[in-house]
Amino acid sequence: GVVTRFAPSPTGFLHIGGARTALFNWLYARHTGGKFLLRVEDTDRERSTEAAVAAIFEGLDWLGLTSDEEPVFQHTRAPRHAEVVQQLLERGRAYRCWMSVEELEVAREKARAEGHAIRSPWRDAPEPGDPALPHVIRFKGPADGETLVDDLVKGPVTFRNTDLDDLVLLRADGAPTYNLAVVVDDHDMGVTHVIRGDDHLNNAARQTLIYQAMDWALPAFAHIPLIHGPDGAKLSKRHGAQAVGEFADMGYIPEGLRNYLARLGWGHGDDEVFNDAQAISWFDVKDVVKAPARLDWAKLNHINSQHLRLADDARLADLVLKALIAQGANLPADAATRLLAVVPQVKEGAKTILELAEHCAFALKIRPFALEEKTTKQLVAETVERLARLRDRLAQTPDWEVEALGSLLKSFAESESVGFGKFGPSLRGILTGGSQAPDLNKIMAALGRDESLGRLDDALA
Ligand code: GLU
Repeated sequence: GVVTRFAPSPTGFLHIGGARTALFNWLYARHTGGKFLLRVEDTDRERSTEAAVAAIFEGLDWLGLTSDEEPVFQHTRAPRHAEVVQQLLERGRAYRCWMSVEELEVAREKARAEGHAIRSPWRDAPEPGDPALPHVIRFKGPADGETLVDDLVKGPVTFRNTDLDDLVLLRADGAPTYNLAVVVDDHDMGVTHVIRGDDHLNNAARQTLIYQAMDWALPAFAHIPLIHGPDGAKLSKRHGAQAVGEFADMGYIPEGLRNYLARLGWGHGDDEVFNDAQAISWFDVKDVVKAPARLDWAKLNHINSQHLRLADDARLADLVLKALIAQGANLPADAATRLLAVVPQVKEGAKTILELAEHCAFALKIRPFALEEKTTKQLVAETVERLARLRDRLAQTPDWEVEALGSLLKSFAESESVGFGKFGPSLRGILTGGSQAPDLNKIMAALGRDESLGRLDDALA
């Protein structure tokens, strides 16, 4: 079966580009009934940090892209990497190289001038150097010919072997290099499909040579284009959020971001909003496009808003509460209950959890609160009396829900022989303190009877 993997280097946060790579691997594994694995590429012990590992796991968990097996930590596999290098030496496909930094510089200049990759003089040296002296072990690439990477996204890409230098497999301190470790680990983990950013396309050629030297079956490669900013330039800090955690903090929900990321470089006809089951049934890595995808905030907002509409109200209420707590908002003791009542009335149209929180703000006000000047000016005697009559009607109605409240307001206006404009705006001002809010009947349904009447009483007293 198919085995895919996501192989982040833990040197920072989980970038949305990385998240999209993980998502494509996950989708393809799910689509084919295969496995999705996770490998933490932490061989670079200087640059890898615990915090970065935690941030990556947290980001993947949040996005729901969890590994089907225990994650592999690459640095723990160093003995196995060294073992394979030993086998390459025995096969005559690797050699020890004692080039000094200065000699390497000279070789680099020569190679540049002659238009080929660096070749170490130790490659074909008749006498080996002293194994006790510091040296690296290099791969012995083919002297001529070409290497084909038959990429599922890019198509066939050919590399001249003279352009590929004899890469270092083991450093002088015995540490394995990236290209070696990736091949050994992908092989040992049974990876069948390597789906990753197209910045690794050149590495695929080098890695292909190592597979061939070991007589190992090649995985399929799929190099997906990077994500660019809205202006078409490579995604960077100036484009705003980059870390998955920042998207979470901005109020995007996992299924919304998943749906949006799936559409960056891949799509299914005109389908814009879809769920995981649909994405899984439709996704095929060969349908990923070659051109870089551009981050489009308006589209992300639209897709996220559609998923907010579909999301469970209790979960949204909880997310809003957490966001408000994080903001240090002054909340009533029963904030959770209030949110549960207000979220269904206001969630339509909200693009993010933060926006939803703004839409909920009116319901969380703690009585008594100040009214806007606009409202207090409207509260002339005639209006106060009318609102007092409305209060009595409201106090007596048996059904406190959106539709019944809508009819009540309508019949009240009729019985008063006035238009809505005669009391609606002041009632709205009293109930909301001027905050953005939905229709009056929805406002009252969300507030509940006691709170609605209490707010009226505060204003009419
Ligand atoms: N660790 C590499 C990176 O984070 C990915 C290597 C791979 O997917 O083969 O860029």
